[in-house]
Amino acid sequence: MKRIYLQKAKHQIARPNTIRDINKQIVLNYVRDRAPISRAEIARETALQRSTVSAIVDALQDTGLIEEIGTGDSTGGRKPTLLKLKTDYPCAVGVDLTPRETTVAVADVSGKVVEMEKFLTSPDADYMSREIVARVGRFAEKYKNNRLQVGMSLPGIVDYSLGKVLYIPYFDWRDWNIGEQIERETSLPVTIDNDANAIALAELWFGEEKIRKIKNFVTVLVAEGVGTGIVFDGQVYRGEKGAAGEVGHMFVGDDAPVQCSCGSRSCWEAHSSEKAIIARYRGRLNGSFSSGSEITVRQIIRLADHGDETAHFVLRETAKYLAIGISNLIVGFSPQAVVVSGEITKAWHLIAQEIHTVVEDQIRRPLPTTIISASSLGETPTLIGSLSLVLAGIFASAS
Ligand SMILES: [Zn+2]
Repeated sequence: MKRIYLQKAKHQIARPNTIRDINKQIVLNYVRDRAPISRAEIARETALQRSTVSAIVDALQDTGLIEEIGTGDSTGGRKPTLLKLKTDYPCAVGVDLTPRETTVAVADVSGKVVEMEKFLTSPDADYMSREIVARVGRFAEKYKNNRLQVGMSLPGIVDYSLGKVLYIPYFDWRDWNIGEQIERETSLPVTIDNDANAIALAELWFGEEKIRKIKNFVTVLVAEGVGTGIVFDGQVYRGEKGAAGEVGHMFVGDDAPVQCSCGSRSCWEAHSSEKAIIARYRGRLNGSFSSGSEITVRQIIRLADHGDETAHFVLRETAKYLAIGISNLIVGFSPQAVVVSGEITKAWHLIAQEIHTVVEDQIRRPLPTTIISASSLGETPTLIGSLSLVLAGIFASAS
């Protein structure tokens, strides 16, 4: 049972509406997951009374979250009216800032992207503020409606509750007030979070069904750095000032191929990030790869797929260090699943065995079996993360 903290008691007293709010959330999520679905089916599956379901459906139709889409097959009596999410207007603007590029996208309540713009990320914070505010402003003007909100995902430390960006190590930006600037210029509410936390939220609401059903899991984003998000008891655990999950700096071994963003060569990130994959590949080629030319993780995976031994070795070596970190997370948190996202998941068929072998080897004592899987969020997990910051709020509150 959860402890009731007395200093917060006035916010926790059960209100008469609490049960109705919970039922509303359940009905909305049935429509989201099982559409097209009828009122009778929802009542049958939830064991809520037909009249309760009907009243909630009316309220959800009034707020514009769901709509009727004709009739289904009759099981005897009158043909049932089917329901689905109302997706004919956008309700989320996602801003996804990564060290390389920034994406601003508009999506409907189901998470389907309606329009998207991309541009290269600049190390100049003022320039980035202007570009982001201008794009969000254009979308706000074009898709004007009273439900539109902004969600933003960033590779750094964010105070989620205050909506403040505290530090972005890649660009050494401190106290960047991007949230305030967007709100001031567009009048849209803004939610900001760290990219790894945003991905954790996206897995919880938009991930594979087997993950969405789980209450405790950890997400690992392999990108420029390595970030983790923690889902505890069905919600993202952010820690004091949003700093939880900074385990990219845990020790996993000496002599990493690159320096970590903190300067060390012993961190998980220095052994397992995309930078580490590229540095390993270059190192194995003994300089035969000309230093001026760029190679990407995607190209290394493609080479491995075409039988390039060096590329295959480099991916397996990286998987080994990734797995050491995952083992530590499993020992520390005992999650039901660890979900990996990022470009490296395109090589899952080449590295999954290595990851499982190393994890089994590292964890010697018997522990509950943890699922280790590649994310199903696709090419742009951080963009889905930014949209989830808005959409999860809608599905969690059903208002
Ligand atoms: Zn570090």
